[in-house]
Amino acid sequence: MIGMINIFPSTKPVVSSEQLQQVKDWLYELLQIDRDTIISLSQLQCQEPNCPPIHTAIAIMTSPPCILRIHKAIPYITCTDICEAIALKIIKD
Ligand SMILES: [Zn+2]
Repeated sequence: MIGMINIFPSTKPVVSSEQLQQVKDWLYELLQIDRDTIISLSQLQCQEPNCPPIHTAIAIMTSPPCILRIHKAIPYITCTDICEAIALKIIKD
């Protein structure tokens, strides 16, 4: 049997605790929020066209809570992505 080669993997990439912590560290620094603030990251299937199959929803439990969406899986998120998501959020609000 020949194994199937998945060109566009839609499975959620494995995220190390270091990668998770790095994204959270950027959020704490950029948003200048207290380190006690809960941040939850979840990788979700993205339904939008021309988008990678997985995006990341970031819920920052400030009051009111702030939700950011980045059209990348967690291991591929950069500091710039987070800056852009925050800028977009500020424009929209
Ligand atoms: Zn997307």
